[in-house]
Amino acid sequence: MRIAVGLLGIALCGTALWLHTVDYKPIVDRVVASTVAEQAYATTVSESDAKLLFCGTGSPSRSAERSGPCLALVARGEMFLFDAGEGAIGRLNEFQAPVLKLSKIFLTHLHSDHMSGTAEVLHNTWLYGRADPIELLGPPGTENLLAGIRLAYEDDITERMYVLAADGVDPDLAFPVAEDIEVDGDEIVTVHEDGDFKIEAFRVNHPHWKSAYGYRIQVGGRTIVVSGDTTISDGVKRYAKNADLLVHEAFNQEFMSIAGEELEKIAVPVSAARIQRIAEVHSPTLALAEMAQEIGVKSLVLTHLIPPIPDIFIARRAFVAGMSDRYAGEITVAHDGLWLDLAGGR
Ligand SMILES: [Zn+2]
Ligand SMILES: [Zn+2]
Repeated sequence: MRIAVGLLGIALCGTALWLHTVDYKPIVDRVVASTVAEQAYATTVSESDAKLLFCGTGSPSRSAERSGPCLALVARGEMFLFDAGEGAIGRLNEFQAPVLKLSKIFLTHLHSDHMSGTAEVLHNTWLYGRADPIELLGPPGTENLLAGIRLAYEDDITERMYVLAADGVDPDLAFPVAEDIEVDGDEIVTVHEDGDFKIEAFRVNHPHWKSAYGYRIQVGGRTIVVSGDTTISDGVKRYAKNADLLVHEAFNQEFMSIAGEELEKIAVPVSAARIQRIAEVHSPTLALAEMAQEIGVKSLVLTHLIPPIPDIFIARRAFVAGMSDRYAGEITVAHDGLWLDLAGGR
């Protein structure tokens, strides 16, 4: 015992001596350099790149693995975002998306999980060097959203300009411009066009919302459709017909029933009736598979997973159980950080 105490004493004295004499500078240099590198924004992208980044594959329910809905498209040297849910800016940086090339954010609808990260995507890119405006586009209500964000950040911007003004930073670039997109009935509306690169908005059916949109992207001869939140809808059937890729939300009834039972055990009451009401505004996995087969979609990627399952093989397999019996194409369960190369396979 006495020997053990003696050895411990020597060890502690040695550690204290090391801490006292060590040269911290190289350590601090490396920590700072790696921290900055982790946060580095890519500022250039190749003109020929055409990629999708799943920067958030979750839903309103909190998940460490799956951030709120967020999908980035890198094309023609620019970046476009479809929804900006909670954690979007963190995920974009984590997966080294070229955020300083972000030119437009398209919101599918104004449910909080789809827009709660918008302010920080705009503000953070402005604070760290964005010199061009980002347009925020979405259903009616989008202009109000930006007006509210401006108001909420008013004092922040005023204070930060004490530091930034000397560098010529423009405070109006933080939250520059928003536009409500009007889409009537079954029409499809062009919201971005650059030669044969096109993004269009169409209506989907997300009950209780007057306007909820999906987006069709045509780039490099390929067609990609983003569903937003929707039931199995005529809009997706019409505009994703024969698409190369359909990125669609997905609801798994069995998982949600089990989740409901477990939540009740820990006194979070989520009744079977409430789960049914949630189901009624989303797309069940098996019905989604049937629709994908019916409209001839070549490949299906599931996102906005309800519930947000862990990204492990067995959970993914269970989530899509039965879908391959109904749909012959490829099914991918997206995860945060998944990049898909649209120019040449994956
Ligand atoms: Zn949602
Ligand atoms: Zn929604």
